Amino acid sequence: MAIDYQSLAVKGVQALSPYQPGKPIDELARELGLNPAEIIKLASNENPLGPSDKALSAAKAALSELCLYPDGNGFELKQALAGRLGVEMSQITLGNGSNDVLEVIARCFAARDSEIIFSQYAFAVYPIVTQAIGATGVSVPAKDWGHDLDAMVAAVTDRTRLIFVANPNNPTGTVHTADAVEAFLEKVPENVLVVLDEAYCEYLKGGQYPDGIRLLSRFPNLIVCRTFSKAWGLAALRVGYSVSSPAIADILNRVRQPFNVDTIALAAATAVLSDEAYLERSCEVNAAGLRQLEQALDDMGLPYIPSAGNFIAVEVGERAQEIYQALLAHGVIVRPVAGYGMPKHLRVSVGLPEENSRFIEALGHSLASVGQGT
Ligand SMILES: *Cc1c(COP(=O)(O)O)cnc(C)c1O
Repeated sequence: MAIDYQSLAVKGVQALSPYQPGKPIDELARELGLNPAEIIKLASNENPLGPSDKALSAAKAALSELCLYPDGNGFELKQALAGRLGVEMSQITLGNGSNDVLEVIARCFAARDSEIIFSQYAFAVYPIVTQAIGATGVSVPAKDWGHDLDAMVAAVTDRTRLIFVANPNNPTGTVHTADAVEAFLEKVPENVLVVLDEAYCEYLKGGQYPDGIRLLSRFPNLIVCRTFSKAWGLAALRVGYSVSSPAIADILNRVRQPFNVDTIALAAATAVLSDEAYLERSCEVNAAGLRQLEQALDDMGLPYIPSAGNFIAVEVGERAQEIYQALLAHGVIVRPVAGYGMPKHLRVSVGLPEENSRFIEALGHSLASVGQGT
């Protein structure tokens, strides 16, 4: 009798659906016979500026080392990060994107009998890494689309090992103030690790938002995750990292793959950290783009969730999937978020001014042809 090999997979994995990425430009071009140059992708919260020149030069220079294994300790990148963040190199764990670090954290600190807490509408990777290790995910109902931090504390049991908090959150763009995050951390038992995922922290302006790294000395159970994929504009290279106590970093370093960040990625990420002008421009273009999108959505009478990230979740109604398809036909790729339990929303990443205008125009046409439903 033929063996059903899928039934041999661990239970959590059997029940897993793969992460749904934004549609690549070339795929849409193939499917609809469009010119790739005329397609805009506002689907994966990528930096619309293109990469920093400094990152690009460093990446090109690193190509001559392709036959050598990368520096498995990422010395130069860790040194640059430690200097910039005011932490010790021993506190940093590098990852193949912060996604990799999130997974390593779960594998190191949780197992089959563990519970991992995250919020409804939070980043899709948290339930995926939870299920992949056979742990039990505890999804806490959101409040006003954001994390209900009090309810998340109340959900802690003696089986809880980890709490994932995305601040700002993706796909909703909601953010908690420093006061709220600190009050939350005060209440979490010390033996429960809190992962503060700050993938979008560079976009936060004004002093009212937490800088997780400043909180590490007060909360030894805290792990802060950050990425080069968004404001730093290096999504293709897959570089992220966590900052924690040296003891926690030591554990993570035992489990991560020895060469999880490649030579090109290490070189580009190290170089981009010295390109302050690029980061500033990323933030300026994003702030202006968010204002542009909000203004246009207000004019169209479309509700949206105010966002602290480089994207915005727009409520287009029950026909969101059809509107997504209609936008594709206009050569505009956005992100459906029905998989997050948000079937009436579409998430659009902030683009350059002309890309935002094209999205708005295409959205107008799509709404007119599809209708908003109720
Ligand atoms: C984009 C994103 C990440 C970063 O992903 P990488 O693997 O570093 O590209 C992490 N967390 C959240 C909430 C994100 O939106």
